[in-house]
Amino acid sequence: MRGTISGKTVVCGIIGDPIGHSLSPIMQNKAFKKLGLGYVYVPFRVRKGDLKKAVDGVRGLSIRGLNITIPHKVAVMQFLDRIDPLAEEIGAVNTIVNDSGTLTGYNTDATGFLQTLHDNKIQPAGKKVLLLGAGGAARAIGNILAQERANLTIFNRKMELSWAEDIAYRLAHCYGTDVNAVELSRENLKAAIADAEILVNATSVGMHPDDDQTPVTADLLRAGLTVFDIVYNPSPTRLLKESTDAGAKTISGLEMLVQQGAIAFEKWTGKAAPVDVMRQAVLSGLSQNYEN
Ligand code: NAP
Repeated sequence: MRGTISGKTVVCGIIGDPIGHSLSPIMQNKAFKKLGLGYVYVPFRVRKGDLKKAVDGVRGLSIRGLNITIPHKVAVMQFLDRIDPLAEEIGAVNTIVNDSGTLTGYNTDATGFLQTLHDNKIQPAGKKVLLLGAGGAARAIGNILAQERANLTIFNRKMELSWAEDIAYRLAHCYGTDVNAVELSRENLKAAIADAEILVNATSVGMHPDDDQTPVTADLLRAGLTVFDIVYNPSPTRLLKESTDAGAKTISGLEMLVQQGAIAFEKWTGKAAPVDVMRQAVLSGLSQNYEN
């Protein structure tokens, strides 16, 4: 019977630590229910030292798929059978598909980001894009933007021996794309933003509970710029509110969250994801998180 656990129920889930505030369970379970699929999605708190045992468990229990979140996105790769080339390039996996015991890792943060740009009718090729941050999400986004031939500048607060400089060098050589890395400072941003077309915040600045923070002061924002803030809690962030006030076009991290989840859903089920249902589920999950 639909919506009940039976002997045929297929299990998916998410592993991370902490995991209690993840919005993926509500998003994926609503999507399974909408399509009447006999699937269930479960959060598993997995501590760093237990990662191998958890991945062995995926094989042993025939779990169909997993999302991977902090702190396991890089470490999990060593335990998988195959890594999709894009995830290999990025050096991080956020989705696993289990095909009869063979585990393949993907990075749907990158593809979810790109899908969100396309949904907003933006093709990054040749566009001047400023990417703030050099953490896990920025790494995924930087790779896909370079592959898409964006003219990319990466801003990071720590420039000494930083990933930003390394990746800029590597991406420029791999893809022949124009990629630079500079320090995240007001002066550097001011100089670069004047003729930029897209600004992506992939730092955690402005994320709840620091809702009053922003990585870019309001006076630097302007009409003609597209501002994509991948932070989705709160939604909208201060950066997006001030971008709207300045006349810029805005894209919320909530859309990327939904798209990365939709791509994972399609890999596990082979069905088109009910994106509107997933978006509504995330919105209701966010409001529940605020109440808790
Ligand atoms: P992460 O690996 O911890 O990276 C955080 C980045 O933010 C680093 O580059 C860090 O710089 C920078 N940063 C942190 N505090 C800063 C500050 N005060 N000033 C300047 N830079 C600062 O985290 P992540 O996994 O990349 O996630 C980043 C954000 O994206 C989080 O809010 C996460 O929730 C969000 N996210 C959203 C989606 C989505 O689907 N919408 C997907 C993934 C992540 P340093 O290198 O100098 O420390």
